[in-house]
Amino acid sequence: MEQNIKQVLITEEELQNKIKELGEQITEDYKGKDLILICVLKGAVMFMADLAKNIDLPLTMDFMAVSSYGSSTESSGVVKIIKDLDTSIEGKEVLIVEDIIDTGLTLSYLLENLKSRGPKSVKICTLLDKPERRKADIKYDYKGFTVPDEFVVGYGLDFDEKYRNLPYICVLKEEVYSK
Ligand code: 5GP
Ligand code: MG
Ligand code: MG
Repeated sequence: MEQNIKQVLITEEELQNKIKELGEQITEDYKGKDLILICVLKGAVMFMADLAKNIDLPLTMDFMAVSSYGSSTESSGVVKIIKDLDTSIEGKEVLIVEDIIDTGLTLSYLLENLKSRGPKSVKICTLLDKPERRKADIKYDYKGFTVPDEFVVGYGLDFDEKYRNLPYICVLKEEVYSK
């Protein structure tokens, strides 16, 4: 895969250090509370797994899948629930775990949807923020890194379903995207 990578933006070590910090902060903030982490599949799967290991609380986890990007790199603006939660979030302290906020359309939909289910609170933890293309006014509570307006892959984020297994965040060479 190495030959397809143009530039590494965030190294494995930088990711792990930041996730440790976030985990400690979340542990502080949710002490004594009934926390549920909600992973937005599939992009947030690596982040969710590492983050959860760094939160020292008896939390629960659930998973949700929504569509907003197909195999292309452009947002469709259409959000659809492909896989819903298995459990009720009524009365719970919900923390949505996302890979990246780009236009913000996916999360603004998800936020309203989850809020309507009667949780005690809903907060957002995003690994990456790409602020330049924001369309929806989204306020997150925890963030890993800000990235420039480039299509990034790795550590859960895909291009055409591939490159999720890279342990760092990077940009691919132009010829890979245009294939
Ligand atoms: P949004 O609705 O905020 O535009 O983004 C929705 C989803 O699109 C993100 O959760 C992520 O899965 C995907 N996405 C947005 N920007 C990127 C990117 O730079 N790289 C990859 N691989 N996915 C992205
Ligand atoms: Mg996502
Ligand atoms: Mg994707």
